[in-house]
Amino acid sequence: MNIHEYQAKELLQRFGVNTPRGQVAFTPDEAVAAAKTMGGPIYVVKAQIHAGGRGKGKIKEVPTQRGVVVVKTLDEVKTAATNMLGNTLETIQTGEAGQKVGRVLIADGCDIAKEYYLGMLLDRATSRITIMASTEGGMDIEEVAHKTPEKILKIAIDPVTGIQPFHAREVAFGLKLEGDANKKCQTLVMNLYKAFTELDCSIVEINPLVTTTSGDVVALDAKINFDDNALFRHPDVMALRDESEENEIELAATKAGLNYVKLDGNIGCMVNGAGLAMATMDIIQLAGEKPANFLDVGGGANKDQITVAFKLILSDPNVKAILVNIFGGIMRCDIIADGIVAAAKEVKLDKPLVVRLAGTNVEKGKEILAASGLPIISADDLKDTAVKIGNVLKQKAA
Ligand code: ADP
Ligand code: MG
Repeated sequence: MNIHEYQAKELLQRFGVNTPRGQVAFTPDEAVAAAKTMGGPIYVVKAQIHAGGRGKGKIKEVPTQRGVVVVKTLDEVKTAATNMLGNTLETIQTGEAGQKVGRVLIADGCDIAKEYYLGMLLDRATSRITIMASTEGGMDIEEVAHKTPEKILKIAIDPVTGIQPFHAREVAFGLKLEGDANKKCQTLVMNLYKAFTELDCSIVEINPLVTTTSGDVVALDAKINFDDNALFRHPDVMALRDESEENEIELAATKAGLNYVKLDGNIGCMVNGAGLAMATMDIIQLAGEKPANFLDVGGGANKDQITVAFKLILSDPNVKAILVNIFGGIMRCDIIADGIVAAAKEVKLDKPLVVRLAGTNVEKGKEILAASGLPIISADDLKDTAVKIGNVLKQKAA
């Protein structure tokens, strides 16, 4: 789960991470009122969306308006907030559709001396939390990572010892910070790691981390991604969820207890069990096609969940055919078949459907599918399934 920048900063402040004073606003008037509580004379107005690249992004309705601006008067705060709120911000990360701006952060403008990059993430290759830092922070870090990866310092933390002061020194000296700023950076790194582990984060990214002309070290931007499997331990974090930022289909799936991930192929798939779902995506590729989604309906899926699953799959306009691959273990195949038939009728399924059932009562399940009167293609083993799903699209194209 992702959260907004202003929420991330509020969380990080609790762990002693230094961020500019700021306040969220939902209307232009609230933005002005928020600015009045700031110190001035410089303010920043920042569109709050769950995507980066806002500084270079454009408001579609007002193309001269960027998603982050530094201004000097309350009038300018109001204009920027008016331009952003209710409009759509397009950045390199949102894609062409952009993302609607529902709230803005008004913060103290900061007298930046230099911008740095500081990130922490769970590196799956080493199974360790890894700190990444670079002197080339700011809005072009993706390009730095791509063209000059040697400019990014990486430090893996041993989970047995956790972070140690020498790790923090390695970061601060790696960023070539001196004197007081060096010490402040070390403290910030230690605090950030504490936040990362205690909040069960997957990614924390501070870009930019800045030194100010007065010698402070401040997190000017903050992005946090949480490990969904640990969210139950953090009801306060869960409360920060902003559903308007999430993929509609994925959100509906979460609510129905289904595990759905959108992909960009055109074979919709419905499978029970994550391992079988992965194998199914492989057989789709083997048939020369691409899966439109990953969908695990779980071990005990009932008719209602199967109906929701069909609706989710069909709401993706790229889907040209559907493959159901279900192993009847906890749930018997005849019950699954009943569910498939009822759900297919309810959603008035008009796309080719290949179903492969295996396990308890498989014959009974197949009979139900055959007797349903629906144009369901029944498959036996994985190879047969691959051939049939491949043929379906070829026939359609012919
Ligand atoms: P994004 O990463 O989405 O582009 P940032 O929060 O990193 O958004 O802001 C973009 C740029 O705006 C920063 O690199 C920094 O130069 C400037 N900026 C952001 N916040 C402030 C601030 N409080 N004071 C001064 N400049 C800021
Ligand atoms: Mg940034």
